[in-house]
Amino acid sequence: MSKLRIGQGFDVHAFCTGDHLMLCGQRIPFNQGFAAHSDGDVAIHALCDALYGAMAEGDIGQHFPDTDPAHKNRDSRDFLDHAIDLMQDKGFALVNADLTLIAQRPKLMPHLAAMKQTLCDSFQCAAEQINLKATTTEKLGFTGREEGIAVLASVLLEKNA
Ligand code: MG
Repeated sequence: MSKLRIGQGFDVHAFCTGDHLMLCGQRIPFNQGFAAHSDGDVAIHALCDALYGAMAEGDIGQHFPDTDPAHKNRDSRDFLDHAIDLMQDKGFALVNADLTLIAQRPKLMPHLAAMKQTLCDSFQCAAEQINLKATTTEKLGFTGREEGIAVLASVLLEKNA
């Protein structure tokens, strides 16, 4: 059997009253926040689901139920650390990850470098192993109406042992 495992993740969070968004662990000033049980970091949630998917380990909701008060306002980097620990425990290494952040607003381009660095720090991987892209939906659909943000994530893992 191949040592390679592919995983995909998708997540959406709606905007609500607030003054910032958390994306890839970066605090981005904005005139709204994310409606969420945790800190709403939709990019990390999609990335975690891609990792869990590649490992055949279910999804983020199974590992961190949103009915659990312990996860209220939780820093989503804790979720990512859990997924990375599981990846290492199961003998997997990251080959690469590719994320597409779909948002009409705010403009994410100025934040992509810092967001990428946060992910590289979490994985302790090289810059070339992680790619972040930002796109709009040309004002179509819920992201286009500026009701929230969606993120797609793909990962490739390689089994070491
Ligand atoms: Mg989520």
